[in-house]
Amino acid sequence: MHSHIIPKNLPDWTKKFGYGDFIFLNHNEDKTADMMQGGKFFRRIKENCWDEDIRITEYEDFQTKVQVVCTIPVMFSYNAKPQDCLQTSQFLNDHIADLIAKYPKNYIGLATIPMQDPQLAIQELERAKAIGHVGIQIGSNINDENLSEEKFFPIFEACERLDMAVMIHPWQMMGFNSMEKYWLPWLVGMPAETSRAACSMVFGGVLERLPNLRVCFSHAGGSFLPTLGRIEHGFNCRPDLVAIDNKVNPREYVGKFWVDCITHDIDALEYILKMQGSKRVCFGTDYPFPLGDLEFGKFIEESNLSIEDQTNIFSTSTLEWLNLDRKLFI
Ligand SMILES: [Zn+2]
Repeated sequence: MHSHIIPKNLPDWTKKFGYGDFIFLNHNEDKTADMMQGGKFFRRIKENCWDEDIRITEYEDFQTKVQVVCTIPVMFSYNAKPQDCLQTSQFLNDHIADLIAKYPKNYIGLATIPMQDPQLAIQELERAKAIGHVGIQIGSNINDENLSEEKFFPIFEACERLDMAVMIHPWQMMGFNSMEKYWLPWLVGMPAETSRAACSMVFGGVLERLPNLRVCFSHAGGSFLPTLGRIEHGFNCRPDLVAIDNKVNPREYVGKFWVDCITHDIDALEYILKMQGSKRVCFGTDYPFPLGDLEFGKFIEESNLSIEDQTNIFSTSTLEWLNLDRKLFI
């Protein structure tokens, strides 16, 4: 339920809009492509980032049939002018909509929306649903603003109303510039970002006010679940700082949201499962990127987890999170 895809060819949005550093793809002869951001090299990607058939074949190698796809967070464009971000979002959402129409048993789509403009965001959310998306992927912060900000609430409310699931993905990691060495933004910043998003949605009362909103936090919820004891203690010892917008203990929400299983560590996953229950832990890979689980849950299959828990992780949890029927894919 957590994999990234990008269209093979992207418009030159920087040229078209006349500003910014929108991602552009430079294709190489060896079938790789360089993601360029404002003329600067961002990341080299391979064919499996865009080629729909190669992706299906690579999934089959690991007995996996269905992939829930969303864009790469660097494509969010939340800092662009809202109308321009609407345009880039529409382009990316149309690409995934075509894909799911072509391969309905192999692909499920999560859209991207212009979060910086709640009205346009809801407009695109509605359109995305109409063209076949079953949820959205959003960043852990929106231009450095937390998801607890009241202006984002109508978007979450619309997701609940429209039965659209929400995946929260870390991006624009806090402290990025001061810890670039050793890949620390990815290794330290990302888990912190996800916890930032979870804490914001819990303390800001988003999950309390929208009990039917189905949210999934990436990378097993980042550092949120492993540090929940500290978070709960903070809630109890300094309610004047923490419990100002929501009086409910953060532990109450555990098992109500979903997380993926991307931990690379069976002990950590077992701890997460003990907290969440296996029906709230989904099978994610972060394919096709190197920090993902590119062995497709081998560490889970080799574990002592019961068949029931494994079935929940490998399919049931994701179907429940997205409110989809298993029969659609058989
Ligand atoms: Zn990811």
